Amino acid sequence: MLLSIIVPCYNEEAVIAETLKRLSTFSEEVNDLDIEFIFIDDGSKDATRSILKQHAAYDHRIRLIGFSRNFGHQIAVTAGIDAARGDAVVLIDADLQDPPEAIHGMLEKWQEGYDVVYGTRTDRPGETAFKRTTAKKFYRLLNRLSDVAIPLDTGDFRLMSRAVVNTLKAMPERDRFVRGMVSWAGFKQVALPYQRSKRFAGKSKYSLPKMIRFASDGIMSFSAKPLQLAMAMGMGASLLALIGIFYALFLRIFTNIWVEGWTALMIAVLFLGGVQLICIGILGEYIGRIYKESKQRPLYVVQEYCGFSEEIAFSRS
Ligand code: UDP
Ligand code: MG
Repeated sequence: MLLSIIVPCYNEEAVIAETLKRLSTFSEEVNDLDIEFIFIDDGSKDATRSILKQHAAYDHRIRLIGFSRNFGHQIAVTAGIDAARGDAVVLIDADLQDPPEAIHGMLEKWQEGYDVVYGTRTDRPGETAFKRTTAKKFYRLLNRLSDVAIPLDTGDFRLMSRAVVNTLKAMPERDRFVRGMVSWAGFKQVALPYQRSKRFAGKSKYSLPKMIRFASDGIMSFSAKPLQLAMAMGMGASLLALIGIFYALFLRIFTNIWVEGWTALMIAVLFLGGVQLICIGILGEYIGRIYKESKQRPLYVVQEYCGFSEEIAFSRS
């Protein structure tokens, strides 16, 4: 039996050596499984790739996929899943926020027969209050909007069986929200609570624009409810307009005071204009995604593979 551990890295020179050490210690504690490490260098601009290459040169368990540029965390994870050969696959961050020791618990659950063991964060020390509250709100909003139940406060730190990995590999979409896709896949899933640690070193690689993109990917890929919201806003605006029309007619016919002045007109025009633009924006987001899908570009571009044997066929790339 083989366990694949997938580690996406982007500008992680400050932590990567320690991560390798911790993962290696972990692997020494696992006796009944072979282990392969798949590191994805997501177009780092620092020494991350050269450090990984040095280690891959003498440790045959380490494999490295080097992207041609930064493609983003979710795409990096996808490349790892495509290349993994394990009977079980674990996704873990490079910054040691997810403790490798927790994988022992995941393996136990897997051996009990679960296909997905996802780590649920009980605590998030060392993260800003802004990040904690937005993340919390986001998971709750997503859960309300989405048609599949996506577990709350759960990141990508998880173990998946081969069956689930094969299901993921068969999902061709370009906007990849991996944790949602795993929920969608089904199978026997179970939560494993763990305490998220502080980032070992370095800064978060999720900038605010990246976080917003990630959140909208999650919502747009797993829900059509924003479109229904657009419809509801349109109906609300029409209803308001209808009330206004009847009101104006009533005054015109039955009284001597008429509705007059440009204030009412301006408000109505601005309100309707706003509602229309919001609706077009929502539509545009979905259409943009259709456009992206229709181009059929590869998900990522690999500049180099290290430590992979020739015969491995990559399904994407
Ligand atoms: N990451 C990546 N590509 C990116 C951004 C992040 O591969 O464009 C990796 C990063 O190196 C780390 C993981 O994704 O291993 C999670 O990122 P980070 O710790 O910065 O996010 P946070 O924990 O702050 O949400
Ligand atoms: Mg982190």
